[in-house]
Amino acid sequence: MVDPVALLKELVRMPSVSADPSRAGDSQRTVEFIRDRLVQLGAEVNIVDNEKTDGVRRYNPMLLARLGDDPDKNTLALYSHYDVQPALLEDGWDTEPFEPLERDINGESYIYGRGTNDDKGPIAATLCAVEELVQEGSLPVNFRFIYEGEEESGSNGFEETLRKHHEWLGKIDGILILDTSWFTDDAPGLDYGFRGLAYMGIEIQGPVKDVHSGLGGGIIPEPMDDLVKILSRLVDGHNRVTVPGFYDDVAPLTPEEKALYDNISFDLEQFKQSNGLNALLTDDPKQLLMDNWRNPSLSIHGIEGAFSEKGGKTVIPAKVIGKVSMRLVPNQDPKKIAELFTDYVEKLFKDLKSPNRLTVHTMATGDWWYGDPSHVLYEKARGILRDYWGVEPTLTRSGGSIPIIPFMEKLFGASAIAIGVGQNSDGAHSQNERIRVKNLVGAKEVLKRYFQMLSAVKLS
Ligand code: MN
Ligand code: MN
Repeated sequence: MVDPVALLKELVRMPSVSADPSRAGDSQRTVEFIRDRLVQLGAEVNIVDNEKTDGVRRYNPMLLARLGDDPDKNTLALYSHYDVQPALLEDGWDTEPFEPLERDINGESYIYGRGTNDDKGPIAATLCAVEELVQEGSLPVNFRFIYEGEEESGSNGFEETLRKHHEWLGKIDGILILDTSWFTDDAPGLDYGFRGLAYMGIEIQGPVKDVHSGLGGGIIPEPMDDLVKILSRLVDGHNRVTVPGFYDDVAPLTPEEKALYDNISFDLEQFKQSNGLNALLTDDPKQLLMDNWRNPSLSIHGIEGAFSEKGGKTVIPAKVIGKVSMRLVPNQDPKKIAELFTDYVEKLFKDLKSPNRLTVHTMATGDWWYGDPSHVLYEKARGILRDYWGVEPTLTRSGGSIPIIPFMEKLFGASAIAIGVGQNSDGAHSQNERIRVKNLVGAKEVLKRYFQMLSAVKLS
């Protein structure tokens, strides 16, 4: 009998915090631990250097593994990340975050510790599911493992590294993302979409150095004044993004898609409370979810170069950079949106007739992901989840961005599915992160059945 709880506890004890370079040794230990486990299962494992460095150290390596090589079987790529968010007892944890603790809450058993939900629980469940299949002597599919160690730090080097090594993995017929949670605590969850992103910097340069406002106030054109005027015009009074053409490629809402929102239980008040929100732009729960998941948005994040300390400083900043991001949806092209945004900001600036200098930078772009919920990967997963848990699984999207999913879909020419493992209330990234033992064991069982089920399906 393979025990995911024991395996998870071992993983949690290794603080593989990617944000902390002093933990690089722990990350290395973690990836080698997983390698050894996979080698015991008969896999060929390759720990490959991250292609990205910060000039001093390389970022954490990626683990690639192959298990099974039957050309008549489907080949599934399993994605998770072995790094975790930082955590300190002083942050307000009840117990040491890297000392796993099993505790009963209202008759349910939970494992507490950093990474239990995100993403070591899913790794433990996956490895145990595969281990049981190996022990039973029959692999229903060929497995390929892609475990990165930089996800919590923005997936540093993921694309470069996988692009360099993906051929070693061979042909892939389907991609399983094991890095999400259920939407609620009561029903299993599948994710079928994330938004994309275009992050922009609006730089306005005036004088060569900062100017005393007693000297310059009233006699020089101030860069901050230009910037604030531009920022104030990016969204209108109805919260619509004003960039011309911004909505042109947004996929229309079909009746089938709209129906997916009917069976999602979502409590607006609870949502507000748990996120510390005082007000929302709509009181209609379905509209709110659509605005978060399937409609694009624009947010202003900050102004680099602005005076932001306590107290008053009478300075006119010489150069300011406004930071703006847009969350994007099917079928918006992040690069095209970045260009439309740049053109628009240049036009707004021109209208100001300012002698200052404007430069618009695209700081980052990332693709949205849309996994077709009628795809056979989803159809089979829904059936198995329904059977195992006795509840209809919830199909949800997210307003956030995981650009590596569409990247892998394109690289491998295969579709992806995201199967939730832990529960909504597990506190991923937060204090006292946990996972319910029932979810861990359930994920192992569900994955095992899913792999067996997919042996009878032609994925590509
Ligand atoms: Mn994660
Ligand atoms: Mn995370």
